[in-house]
Amino acid sequence: MNPAAYRRAASVEEALRLAQEPGAAFIGGGTNLLDLMKGGVAAPHTLIDVSRLPLAAITELPDGSVRIGAMARNTDVANHALIRIRYPLLSQALLAGASPQLRNMATVGGNLLQRTRCYYFYDTGFDRCNKRLPGSGCAARDGYNRIHAVLGASDACIATNPSDMSVALAALRAVVRVRGAGGERTIAIGDFHRLPGDAPERDTTLNQGELITAVDLPRSPFAEHAHYLKIRDRASYAFALVSVAAALDLRDGVVREAALALGGVAHKPWRTAQAEAALAGRTLDAQSMQAAAAALLQGARPYQHNGFKVDLARRAVIRALSTAGGLA
Ligand SMILES: Cc1cc2nc3c(=O)[nH]c(=O)nc-3n(C[C@H](O)[C@H](O)[C@H](O)COP(=O)(O)OP(=O)(O)OC[C@H]3O[C@@H](n4cnc5c(N)ncnc54)[C@H](O)[C@@H]3O)c2cc1C
Ligand code: SF4
Repeated sequence: MNPAAYRRAASVEEALRLAQEPGAAFIGGGTNLLDLMKGGVAAPHTLIDVSRLPLAAITELPDGSVRIGAMARNTDVANHALIRIRYPLLSQALLAGASPQLRNMATVGGNLLQRTRCYYFYDTGFDRCNKRLPGSGCAARDGYNRIHAVLGASDACIATNPSDMSVALAALRAVVRVRGAGGERTIAIGDFHRLPGDAPERDTTLNQGELITAVDLPRSPFAEHAHYLKIRDRASYAFALVSVAAALDLRDGVVREAALALGGVAHKPWRTAQAEAALAGRTLDAQSMQAAAAALLQGARPYQHNGFKVDLARRAVIRALSTAGGLA
C-alpha cells in the first residue's frame, strides 16, 4: 500500500479546497477505499477525511421530502424513524448490505461511490481491466463472468454496480446533491451512475473534486407496499447476484404507480419507464407482473457463465412485486 497523507476537513469549504490537490481523495467510512488502497488498485496521495463534517442529519423538508446527509452512516439511515416509516424500501436495502460492523462505518456518500466487485478489477495480477487500466482490455468478457452484467454492458466492460442502497434510491427517484469548486448542483439518481460505454473507468457523472453533501428523497406514495429482495450465494454478507427494489401505490388491487429497479445486473441500478408503465393502471396479477419483468429485462445479453441471471431476475421481479403487493 502506498503511503498517503491524512487531512481531516473541518468544513465543506476546506474539503473542497484540499480536493483541488492532485492525487487527493475524500474518505468516508473507508470500508471500500482502504481495501482498494491495500490491494494496489487505488493510490491517492492525500486522504481528505470528510466523515466528521456536519452533514449526517436526516431531516424532513417543508415540502415533505426527506434529506439524508451524505455523512450519515448506513446503520443510522436504515434505523431512522423517517426512513423506516416513509421509505421502508431503503431501510430494507441498507440492512441487506454488508455486515452490521460495516454498516456502522459506511456513509451514504461512500456507498454511492463504492466500486464494482469484479474480481479482475481487484486483482492487480491481471493486466487486462479497462476500469483499472484504461485501454488494457477486459479479462471478464472471455474469463469467468458469473457475477457480471446482463444489461447495459459494453465491449469495454461488463462489470456491475454492487450497491444495494443505490437500487432502492433509483426506485425512489432520489436526487444527489453535490458541491464543487463551481458551487452546488443536483443530479437525479438515474443520471448519477453511468453505463460503461467506452469509458468504464468513470463509474458516475461526478466531476473530479466534487463532494456529495446529501441525498433527497421526494415524497413517496410507496411506503405501504414495498419490498427489497436480494438473491446471493450466502444468506448474509454477500453481494447481490440479483436484487429487486419493488414498491407500489396500490388501491383496491389496482396499481396507481410502480417503482421498480434491478441490482446486480448492470453497471448502474437498472430502471426503465416501460416496466413501470406495464403496471400502472392495471390489476396486480400474474399477467401484469410478467409484463413488467419482461419490459425490465428487454435486451438482456448474458455472457458465458451468467445466463442464469436473466431467468433469476425475471422470477425475482415477480416475487418482489407479489410480496410488495401482499399476494405472496
Ligand atoms: C466484506 C464487505 C461486504 C460488503 N457487502 C456489501 C453488500 O452486500 N451490499 C452493499 O451495498 N455494499 C456492501 N459492501 C460495501 C460497503 O457498503 C461500502 O464499502 C460502503 O458503503 C462504502 O462507504 P464508505 O463510507 O466506507 O466509503 P469509502 O470507502 O470511504 O469511500 C468510497 C469512495 O467514495 C468516495 N467518497 C466517500 N465519501 C464521499 C463524498 N461525500 N463525496 C464524494 N466522494 C466520496 C471515496 O473517495 C471513495 O472513492 C461490502 C463491503 C465489504 C468490505
Ligand atoms: S468487467 Fe470491467 S472491471 Fe471487470 S475486468 Fe472487465 S473492464 Fe475490468
